[in-house]
Amino acid sequence: MDAFLYERPASLDEALRLMAQPSAKAIAGGSNLIDLMKGGIERPCKLIDVSRLPWDQVETLPDGGLRLGAGVRNSDAADHPEVRSNYPLLSRALLAGATQQLRNMATVGGNLLQRTRCHYFYDDGFRHCNKREPGSGCDALQGFNRQHAILGQSEHCIATNPSDMAVALAALRARVLLRSARGERTLDIGDFHRLPGDRPERDSEIEPDELVVAVELPPSNAAGHSQYLKIRDRASYAFALVSVAVALELDEAGRVTRAGLALGGVAHKPWRVEAAEAALAGRLPDDAAANDAADALLAGARGHGDNDFKIELARRAVRRAIARAARGSTL
Ligand SMILES: Cc1cc2nc3c(=O)[nH]c(=O)nc-3n(C[C@H](O)[C@H](O)[C@H](O)COP(=O)(O)OP(=O)(O)OC[C@H]3O[C@@H](n4cnc5c(N)ncnc54)[C@H](O)[C@@H]3O)c2cc1C
Ligand code: SF4
Repeated sequence: MDAFLYERPASLDEALRLMAQPSAKAIAGGSNLIDLMKGGIERPCKLIDVSRLPWDQVETLPDGGLRLGAGVRNSDAADHPEVRSNYPLLSRALLAGATQQLRNMATVGGNLLQRTRCHYFYDDGFRHCNKREPGSGCDALQGFNRQHAILGQSEHCIATNPSDMAVALAALRARVLLRSARGERTLDIGDFHRLPGDRPERDSEIEPDELVVAVELPPSNAAGHSQYLKIRDRASYAFALVSVAVALELDEAGRVTRAGLALGGVAHKPWRVEAAEAALAGRLPDDAAANDAADALLAGARGHGDNDFKIELARRAVRRAIARAARGSTL
């Protein structure tokens, strides 16, 4: 690991001032960043430790939504009574990620910005990785690509976003609050992560001097009919091959008045398609509606050999998750 300077600011203002310095990088739980630094993939000159800032609160918003500070630990977010009762989808997604020990360290901000799990990215024995070294190529294209993307990929990168939390946030239409010494801005979660295009080295729209300060969830009436289904090689301690987040608001006749639907493990960002949610609106969430939603969500899906199976897997997972959500949520 390269030498680096370490700073632990006592306030957000001080943290933002330090983040404005060249080659500064925030560290929160450190559960992803330290691995990347040990492997020489990330080489910040200055680490700004934001893990002790007073931003680990969960607050109810005036409109009935919920605000999670960037420093809220994944385990605390999953267990929070408001999250469990109003956003059980988020709780389930968080609990499906990593292990209890990791969730005790991992934060909302760090989870959003964790990097892909593409093994070619982590292992610099492989020379061609556009995300690690722009312009070098992509070893995954002709290599072992079982975990890789089937949607939104480019000829430059077929990596997936590994976060479970972000998939639930996409279905719940969360907003990400960003702040720098220059000011504050808010992005819809769908605009926060990027597709790889010809710049796969950039995972998200965050600027180097910005911090995620919070995530806000709009009010939701889908708590009774939501589901997070994660399909992976092992029952725990494994990243998603495919995951599905579903949040359904139903009327008295059981018809969908509002749907949130997102896929994980299939693209460089959580995959949400408005046409797929529209395919459910006004209908009973039955097999026919679920098939139409899956068709819209997976339109244009393309495999790379080892991961071809993900297309049918995702289709079946969408149908199963919608059927389970229609029956009722469980935590
Ligand atoms: C063995 C293992 C298994 C795992 N399994 C899963 C899984 O199944 N599902 C899943 O979703 N995750 C999984 N994870 C990933 C884990 O969830 C992430 O490592 C964790 O969420 C990162 O949070 P952190 O606070 O530790 O971030 P850090 O490692 O501290 O930081 C990660 C990135 O976020 C940036 N950052 C952190 N906070 C901020 C902020 N407030 N503003 C701006 N930038 C910030 C850092 O600069 C860094 O780039 C696993 C990790 C491991 C090691
Ligand atoms: S898929 Fe992306 S992260 Fe993986 S080797 Fe190719 S360029 Fe690198």
